[in-house]
Amino acid sequence: MVNISVRLKYSRYRLDREAHIKVNYEKCRNCGRRACLTACPAQCYLPQPENGVVFNYEACLECGTCYIICDQGALNWNFPKGGCGISYRFA
Ligand code: SF4
Ligand code: SF4
Repeated sequence: MVNISVRLKYSRYRLDREAHIKVNYEKCRNCGRRACLTACPAQCYLPQPENGVVFNYEACLECGTCYIICDQGALNWNFPKGGCGISYRFA
C-alpha cells in the first residue's frame, strides 16, 4: 500500500507569495474547539499558547477540510493563483 507521504513525493509544489487562505484571527481567539488543529492533514494550523492559532499556508494540500470544519466562519478560502500551490501526480 502506498501512503500519503510516498504519494506526495511525486507532487510538485510552487509557493505563492501570499496566502490563498485568509484567516480571521479574531474569530480564532474565541474558538473553543479549534478543530483545524487536528483536521488539517498538513498541520498548517499551529496552536497559540492560550488560544487561537497561527496559520502557515506553505504546506497546504488544498483539500478544503479546514473550510468545512471551521464552525466560526473564520476562513476566506481560495485556491492559489494559477500555477501556484500543489500539483498532484499519482504515477
Ligand atoms: S476552527 Fe476556525 S475559528 Fe477555530 S481556530 Fe480553526 S480556523 Fe480559527
Ligand atoms: S486546505 Fe487542507 S491542507 Fe490546506 S490548510 Fe486546509 S485542511 Fe490544511
